[in-house]
Amino acid sequence: SNRTFTMIKPDAMKNGHAGAILDKIIKSGFKIVALKQTKLSTEKAGEFYEVHKERPFYGELTKFMSSGLIIAAILEKENAVADFRTLIGATDPAKADEGTIRKLFATSLGENAVHGSDSDENAKIEGDFFFSGLERF
Ligand code: ATP
Repeated sequence: SNRTFTMIKPDAMKNGHAGAILDKIIKSGFKIVALKQTKLSTEKAGEFYEVHKERPFYGELTKFMSSGLIIAAILEKENAVADFRTLIGATDPAKADEGTIRKLFATSLGENAVHGSDSDENAKIEGDFFFSGLERF
């Protein structure tokens, strides 16, 4: 597929990096199909990260993701999922390549600035979680 889904997480929002992150995404060739600033309740964050519910960091993750504003967006580019994961870098910013979004803007392993879908299937599910049909036409 040619679409992926991203969130700018509360740490990057609070640290004032949203504009720079969106600029980097656009300059890397992604078109913004849909975009909104919103806030997740703890329940909604738990639902979004349902696949991680047995992981030890699930509580920390859902608390963090509901701690402040986020930006959710659907992005379009050839090979979107893989290319976006390359652009954001490793989950742990300390291990992320130079020039990646997480290397530049993330706070820590848990507070790592951005989300990027890990498959075409999850990109669709995650985009549908935030946007109605008309919003993601
Ligand atoms: P994302 O799904 O957000 O793009 P990812 O696929 O790189 O991240 P996952 O292993 O799916 O990483 O973990 C989802 C999110 O959970 C991570 O982005 C991070 O915010 C958080 N996380 C992962 N591992 C840990 C950990 N050991 N301790 C705290 N938080 C973690």
